[in-house]
Amino acid sequence: SAVASEKEAALAAAPADAPTIFDKIIKKEIPANVVYEDDKVLAFRDIAPQAPTHILIIPKVKDGLTGLSKAEERHFEILGHLLYTAKLVAKQEGLEDGFRVVINDGPQGCQSVYHIHVHLLGGRQMNWPPG
Ligand code: 5GP
Repeated sequence: SAVASEKEAALAAAPADAPTIFDKIIKKEIPANVVYEDDKVLAFRDIAPQAPTHILIIPKVKDGLTGLSKAEERHFEILGHLLYTAKLVAKQEGLEDGFRVVINDGPQGCQSVYHIHVHLLGGRQMNWPPG
């Protein structure tokens, strides 16, 4: 029925509305080491760095993007913006010998914060395959 499908839609949407620690960082309610910011994105150092450079790049407005698996066509622009910001910050960090970008998604992808974020890692030799 229409009611049931509306409920399903609401339940499916609920996690997107649940605030995360990143909302507090965006609102400056908790401190972060911000390395780049514009009107749409924020980049700050990961609190538990896995490489000499480990930066997280996030959209300031989540708009349902808990993770990459929730991406819709309306997110094309912000997705490109996040990736382009990774390039800008890599340059700013002096990672001219290379770097890695990672987006963890869901339990098997080891995602722990449900507000989409691009990891930018560099400053050491990366290995393949990742763990
Ligand atoms: P995920 O595991 O979801 O791909 O990545 C989440 C990342 O957020 C982790 O690398 C974790 O260290 C980082 N993180 C979690 N809480 C905080 C925080 O309060 N501040 C900062 N700067 N990073 C955080």
